Amino acid sequence: MSESFLVIDDSKLLHQMYRLIFSQGDLAGSTIHYATNGREGYGLLAAHPDLTLVFLDLNMPEMNGLEVLARARAERLHSHVPIVLVTTESSEDDEARGLAVGAWDYLRKPFQPADIQRLVRRARELRRGRGAA
Ligand SMILES: [Mg+2]
Repeated sequence: MSESFLVIDDSKLLHQMYRLIFSQGDLAGSTIHYATNGREGYGLLAAHPDLTLVFLDLNMPEMNGLEVLARARAERLHSHVPIVLVTTESSEDDEARGLAVGAWDYLRKPFQPADIQRLVRRARELRRGRGAA
């Protein structure tokens, strides 16, 4: 089974970290799309309806993570695709807001590879539950 992921984050350093995590274990060989701002990320989300999981940074130029999320959900864009809002320690209000507008979960920076792997396992279970895998 070929899986694909979308990382939307304005930090090139974070892109490198995702790249490393997605090169290991059973994630190796999966396809990862990268965007460096919310607008670009929204475009990639729209272009790829069959993503396994999306990692969406909260703080970004152009459109922030909450704007991307709210727009995607309001337009019912691939509503079956789970979107994880990636936040920082001090953004509890934004986490609650994110969940309210349709984030599947949130992930706080700094995160560990195991956090990503756990979210991927849950996303796979979600797909299996829907008979999509
Ligand atoms: Mg950021």
